[in-house]
Amino acid sequence: MGRIPKVATLLGERQKIEKEIENLQKSCQHSTKSIKSVRERLDSTSMVIRYVCDECLLSIGYPNDEEQQNYLKQ
Ligand SMILES: [Zn+2]
Repeated sequence: MGRIPKVATLLGERQKIEKEIENLQKSCQHSTKSIKSVRERLDSTSMVIRYVCDECLLSIGYPNDEEQQNYLKQ
C-alpha cells in the first residue's frame, strides 16, 4: 500500500499541536503578561511586538509607542 508522505504526517501532528495550544490558551486566565516579539499570525513570518501572556503565550494586547521603544532598547 502507498505510504503516507512524511509531510502529511507532520501536518497532522502540527494540527494536533495547534489544537492543544488553542485549548490551553482558551482555559488560561492570562494573569501576567510581558512585551514580546511574536509572529503576527501562525502562518506568518513577520514579527510584531505585542503583550503576550506569560502562561500560554497568546498575544493579548498592543503596547503603546513608548512601551515599544523601551522594549526595542533592551
Ligand atoms: Zn494566557
